[in-house]
Amino acid sequence: MNISILVFGGDHFLATLPDQLRDASTFSIEAIANVNQAVSRIQIKPPDVILVQASLHGSMEFCRWLKEQTKLSWIYCILVEDSPELLAGKSQFGREWELEMTCAALRQGADAYIWQQPKQKTDNPPAEETANEQLLLAHLSVGLRKAQKYRDLVRTNDLLTAIALADSLTELKNRRALNADLPKYIEKARSHGDPLSLMILDVDYFKKVNDSYGHLVGDRLLQLLCHRLRHNLRFQDIPFRYGGEEFVVILSNTTCDDALAVANRLNRVVSKQPFAINDKLAINVTISIGTACLQPEDDTRGTSLLERADQFLLEAKATGRNRVIGCSRQMFPNTSDLQAVS
Ligand code: GH3
Ligand code: MG
Ligand code: MG
Repeated sequence: MNISILVFGGDHFLATLPDQLRDASTFSIEAIANVNQAVSRIQIKPPDVILVQASLHGSMEFCRWLKEQTKLSWIYCILVEDSPELLAGKSQFGREWELEMTCAALRQGADAYIWQQPKQKTDNPPAEETANEQLLLAHLSVGLRKAQKYRDLVRTNDLLTAIALADSLTELKNRRALNADLPKYIEKARSHGDPLSLMILDVDYFKKVNDSYGHLVGDRLLQLLCHRLRHNLRFQDIPFRYGGEEFVVILSNTTCDDALAVANRLNRVVSKQPFAINDKLAINVTISIGTACLQPEDDTRGTSLLERADQFLLEAKATGRNRVIGCSRQMFPNTSDLQAVS
């Protein structure tokens, strides 16, 4: 595996790094000495490890910034001390002072703090220089291990999130996803001043399908129904499986009248053609739909909006099924504005 290293440092600093880092099959290395450029490079393509030249202006702030970033703090940050004064201080003040400096660097946000002796131009470098290089290479391995673990974790997390928010039978988003998404749609609609509507639809007499043909046929019918719904929605309409044979569709940027039009179209699309379960069996079903559009007094979570649509759905059921009922007026719904379509 190729370890990607970003060096926040100058060319001279880069030249002092261990020769092994130049092995392109193991390391891909890039040096940037400008803090703003380094920050935007990290945000666009996070490296596995960052090597920071301590003598560079803003190096400590850079380490601190990195550790404050929730999505980037896993990047292993190695601060390499190359300031001549500090290196001189190390020889002068001894081990205790060196440990104090290390503690300060780690507290600031570095994951490792390494002293870099000036590189000797000789075939036999001093033992301390070689040991420091080995330490740096060892820290790079630690950084790589951390990066691999983090990436595995992100992959698993993405998978679990997808599972948690999807309905396995219909592959639509589930009710948990609706609870998370609806407040966001409401907030967006309100901040942009756009209309927002939703519909709740329920399959009519679905229990009879199960009772007559069995649950597996019922399951297949739900899958075919969702497929048909999906293909007849507009790109901005997001369907969710709300419960058993009930579905919610969020209709972004849609007025009350447009919501009724979309719902009426779906109602026709479902009833006009039977669902072919297999070569020998095709089943006719109808749906009832309640629609509602966002009002200024609706709560931010969407509870009152859903309740209104649900009331209209109940009314559609009570007045004969296979119909759409919703409010056609944008702002102040009352019963005289109801529209029913059989
Ligand atoms: P209504 O017109 O009043 O909605 O009548 P209905 O029969 O559709 O409503 P009811 O609430 O009486 O029954 C809903 C049925 O949907 C009962 C339940 O077993 C079935 N159901 C819910 N989820 C699933 C599912 O995932 N698969 C299958 N096969 N059936 C399901
Ligand atoms: Mg039903
Ligand atoms: Mg139902």
